[in-house]
Amino acid sequence: MTEQFHCPNCRTVVPQDAAGCVACAASFEGPTSWKPQRLADLDAKAVGPGDLFVTSFGIAVLVAAALPFMTRILVAVTGGMYGPFFRHHSPALFIATAFAFTYVPFTLAAWAFLRRFKIIERTPPRFRSAGMLTFGCILILLYVTARTLAALIPGGGAGFVVAVFSPYVLWPARILLAAALLRLAYGFVRGSR
Ligand SMILES: [Zn+2]
Repeated sequence: MTEQFHCPNCRTVVPQDAAGCVACAASFEGPTSWKPQRLADLDAKAVGPGDLFVTSFGIAVLVAAALPFMTRILVAVTGGMYGPFFRHHSPALFIATAFAFTYVPFTLAAWAFLRRFKIIERTPPRFRSAGMLTFGCILILLYVTARTLAALIPGGGAGFVVAVFSPYVLWPARILLAAALLRLAYGFVRGSR
């Protein structure tokens, strides 16, 4: 069986030296564009939902750190932890809502962006930083869980302890995520060759 080459965007069979895909109009010209690939290579580079999640969530964490306005919107709308709604509930409910309100929209937006432009697919696997992104996301999720659980304990002592120690988790996690995403961006710019 002769080796066939496929469009990395839609997997249509194309000549190896094609300038573009007849089926989806993807361009194969220029150093950073897609190139026709063997099916085995395409499968090796396939992007799973786990890759998409850790990359999207990593972007969301950094965007939320740079633009902390989502929590301010939540406070403005609900009156915050001691507002008319949240004061009847544990502070943990407000904290969990604030995390969800901050991270979920940015994660969905980053997910849509990565999917739309096939950013991860077009980045060579060795630059995708999946391990670093996963580790950074686990640290952030531990931080979110610790903040929320501590707020369930009445008296505020546990919340205070978590708040004191959280920068030592939060900042390394953010730096790790930033380094991983810079590496991914570098790999993307170098192109999928
Ligand atoms: Zn195509």
